[in-house]
Amino acid sequence: MTRRKLVAGNWKMYGTSAELGEIEGIARAAQDHSAIDVALCLPATLIERATQTVSGFAIGGQDVHSAGKGAHTGCVSAAMLVDAGAGLTIVGHSERREAQHETDAEVKAKAEAALAAGLDVILCIGESLDVREQGRAVAVVDAQLAASLPARIGAPEAFSVAYEPIWAIGTGKVPSLGDIAEMHAALRRRLVAAYGGAGNAVRILYGGSVKASNAAEIFAVPDVEGALVGGASLTAADFLPIIEAAGQVIDF
Ligand code: PEP
Repeated sequence: MTRRKLVAGNWKMYGTSAELGEIEGIARAAQDHSAIDVALCLPATLIERATQTVSGFAIGGQDVHSAGKGAHTGCVSAAMLVDAGAGLTIVGHSERREAQHETDAEVKAKAEAALAAGLDVILCIGESLDVREQGRAVAVVDAQLAASLPARIGAPEAFSVAYEPIWAIGTGKVPSLGDIAEMHAALRRRLVAAYGGAGNAVRILYGGSVKASNAAEIFAVPDVEGALVGGASLTAADFLPIIEAAGQVIDF
């Protein structure tokens, strides 16, 4: 099956209006690679200004509350993201699972709320170094995915899974291509078990220290339909080669 690649940047807690020029540069590059999807998941404070600056380019959030509204100080609802102009959101990033103690059940509820509001979703999962070294990575991440998946996904193109080994995020370390292939194959089986044929159309992204020098080989791994990129998405100069690498590997 051919799936359009998705390359999404996660700006984490970086970026103010001073960086709008970088966003413009990235959006221009995305226009040159119309065979793939490119998105930037920005700090909530920057979403509205970014969507006004680069209309037609996918801007997303990095988290969403599962409730529609309420007494949740500091949180953002799916409707608020939509109102700001976002078209997608990340849920379940390991930095939130760890620092905010988010559970699989909460991540599932967030994904369901975001999809119901019309946002595309990138749902993150991944193992710790301990789990990897104990040889339990596939079993643990598969169970994490099973418990985090929304009950229904609607259009499968609107829902992506990002496999992000925690030990690879921001460290410069990357699993072997064989380990990535093994994990993505297991996640594909889980998606098909959950959603039938639609599970074949869900994109599975790899995330964790993706950069210009390793993007092409990672994108060539079966069942890798793109990347979630942190540090290397912060500037157009670093992100463009990754977008270009994805644009060159279109068939799986
Ligand atoms: C991330 O935080 O989702 C990520 C993949 O970060 P980095 O690319 O910096 O490892």
